[in-house]
Amino acid sequence: MPFSQLGLSTPLLNAIADLAYVEPTEIQKQAIPVVLSGKDIIAAAQTGTGKTASFVLPLLERLSAAENDEERNLRGKRVRALILTPTRELAIQVEASIAQYGKYINISSMAMYGGTEIEPQKQRLIWGIDILVATPGRLLDMAHQRAVHFDQLETFVLDEADRMLDMGFIDDINKIIERLPEQRQNLLFSATISDDVRALAKRTIHNASEISIAKNSASKPKIAQWLVTVDKTNKSALLSYLIKEQAWQQALIFIETKHGAAKLVSQLEKRGIKAESIHSGRTQAIREQILNDFKAGEINFLVATGIAARGIDIGELSRVVNYDLPDKVDDYIHRIGRTGRAGKSGEAVSFVAKDNFRNLCAIESHLDQVIERREFEAFPVKKIVPVSILNYVPKNKRS
Ligand code: AMP
Repeated sequence: MPFSQLGLSTPLLNAIADLAYVEPTEIQKQAIPVVLSGKDIIAAAQTGTGKTASFVLPLLERLSAAENDEERNLRGKRVRALILTPTRELAIQVEASIAQYGKYINISSMAMYGGTEIEPQKQRLIWGIDILVATPGRLLDMAHQRAVHFDQLETFVLDEADRMLDMGFIDDINKIIERLPEQRQNLLFSATISDDVRALAKRTIHNASEISIAKNSASKPKIAQWLVTVDKTNKSALLSYLIKEQAWQQALIFIETKHGAAKLVSQLEKRGIKAESIHSGRTQAIREQILNDFKAGEINFLVATGIAARGIDIGELSRVVNYDLPDKVDDYIHRIGRTGRAGKSGEAVSFVAKDNFRNLCAIESHLDQVIERREFEAFPVKKIVPVSILNYVPKNKRS
């Protein structure tokens, strides 16, 4: 099915053509017509499936259609659409997508997030903004200071709802929702629809169409997952070995702590591999600079803590490495979804030490798949990691 059959107008189709998208992804095919019709949706779709365009395109269409309408008269400090995201990185990326897809129409947008001066953001809101992409904390601050009002709001989007809840934003989200007009369109996107997400959706949205991208749908990113078992003390040597032996050109490397990140960078550098790190101990400006350098290919190996890396969108990322296996299955899925985007192939490599056995079982039983194991003679393992029990049920889920 071509994009032209989805009900989008020429300026948007031209912007899509400029990006050389050949056809809509599964979530786009399903979500765009429903959002255009003005209905609410709850969509289960991971990053990498093209979910951003699936709400941004119809949102732009609806807002620009109303632009010709004499009723459209945006007052100061008002917004017509609000997109809430869990992180500033994601807010920046979503806003960049709006600018890309909306380059031939006249719709204003802005990303608003904490950790930077509030005054310039207030100034930009003075004349009103069509689409505001915001993180919850800063948005509430602005609302309290009466720098933003929602009485002209038409559409509310909650992006990465599961991540928002994981990051403890539930109270902020509820406070924001209380301020929104009753009559509005609601769009909720989440990688996984957990019980908590469902409860949030129930409070926020009535009569939503539910869209779910099947686990094995054709648009699923092509990610080759493999793991290597390793003794904890050998991890940095193993990483250096793989980078050199397999001539890796690029990797986003996930690690648990910020101290670990800094240490790993220096261990890699001692072995002649140039790397950088992003974590909560670095300023926003430095993190942005490093991310840009990584995207531009000036930095090939980026070590990141899970928090700092949330929402990172790197179109051409070929490889992610779980240097530390995450505790949560959802984190694993999010991380590997950073590669293999929109049909491109990618590789997800996990280092698994004996202590990670339970996590590995939880991940593999969720995937319903035993991840391929590769061994390297130079790195024999002293503490053997057993093969997973695929019907493993985590303790907190046992009845
Ligand atoms: P998202 O899931 O929104 O994070 O999007 C993942 C990546 O896929 C982004 O880099 C988009 O630019 C790209 N993308 C979105 N839709 C399409 C499409 N229909 N064809 C090719 N690439 C796409």
